[in-house]
Amino acid sequence: MVRGNVLDPHPRVRTLGPVSLSLEATGIHKAFAGAPALRGVDLRVEQGEFYALVGPSGCGKSTLLRIVGGHERPDEGRITIAGRDVTDDPPERRPVHTVFQHYALFPHLSVEDNVAFPLRMQGVGRRERRARARESLEMVRLPGYGRRSVATLSGGEKQRVALARALVPRPAIVLLDEPLGALDLQLRRAMQDEIRDLQRRVGLTFLHVTHDQEEAFRLADEVAVLHRGRVAQQGTPRDVYRRPATPFVAAFLGVGNLLEGRPEADPRRFRTAQGLVLEAAVPVAGATVAAIREETVTVHPERAGVPSGDLSGVVEDVAFLGAMTRVAVRVGGAGASVCGVAAEDHVFHRGDRATLRVDPDDVLLLRPDPVG
Ligand code: ATP
Repeated sequence: MVRGNVLDPHPRVRTLGPVSLSLEATGIHKAFAGAPALRGVDLRVEQGEFYALVGPSGCGKSTLLRIVGGHERPDEGRITIAGRDVTDDPPERRPVHTVFQHYALFPHLSVEDNVAFPLRMQGVGRRERRARARESLEMVRLPGYGRRSVATLSGGEKQRVALARALVPRPAIVLLDEPLGALDLQLRRAMQDEIRDLQRRVGLTFLHVTHDQEEAFRLADEVAVLHRGRVAQQGTPRDVYRRPATPFVAAFLGVGNLLEGRPEADPRRFRTAQGLVLEAAVPVAGATVAAIREETVTVHPERAGVPSGDLSGVVEDVAFLGAMTRVAVRVGGAGASVCGVAAEDHVFHRGDRATLRVDPDDVLLLRPDPVG
């Protein structure tokens, strides 16, 4: 029987006063041979939080994780973990444990000895090592696997053993570097649910790196979207999804309509480069892009007697996506293409005339991404 709080030395603390932080990274800069990988990153992760670093390949997320773990030194900036400045500490003196994509298990050791390994390094006695390794294996739903050789395990089981090993020393932070990257899609989804569930049960802080936006949003309480060595946006998945801060974040999150242009004298009106005028509920001075999610735009057939809206034009592409049909409409004389969803399952064909309904609440005006 696993007692719920045994592995929970850092329960999530929510108070009205200052929040309790597991990790604080301030002003992190890192360059490799003169090429900047991180350019002034600040990060604050609360105790017990599931925090995801997400971004495309090369944005610097693994470098940041390695700096937190002590496997890389920042050129500038400080790392504080559980209230202690660890910037100058080697990995083994930091209260963190990393789970890697390729498990990094010892093939010649049994499952239990793999899991107990960090405790052996800490000089914990044999009896306690065994008890804690077993308990940790129960946490990842592998009871009775202790005597197995790791070579006989499936990919998902190996990753669970790696997780059990990360939990057993009771670190302040579990660092996860694309831990599901080697698994096929179906197993990946199942393991995402398991990791989330596990993190909730043990209450430890998890810092998770992934290039998969869906994975980050599914797992995390908070996400930071990295772009070319900077944090482009951080917040809850819901907030970041609803209000992407820059054109890069919007594109990374799959916003289908990104139209360049500028606000008119009335800043709620945005004129695109093609001459289309969009109404936005929230004006943004200096905006250069209007972002509209495809799924918020409905496409209606243009019928006699139905007044056509501001946005009407000719259907140029139709794609059936199962849950919805995406329709691309070339709008206005200048030819901006705007995508939306077929209203009421209407079947469109290329060349049909159509009207698009866009709610001003769904038109997000964005300032440009930082240059350089
Ligand atoms: P991926 O998802 O592909 O792993 P990432 O976002 O994790 O990408 P990093 O691995 O942090 O990106 O790399 C950021 C940048 O720093 C890249 O341009 C990479 O080539 C460079 N870089 C990282 N580590 C080193 C190194 N040891 N030596 C030289 N350049 C490096």
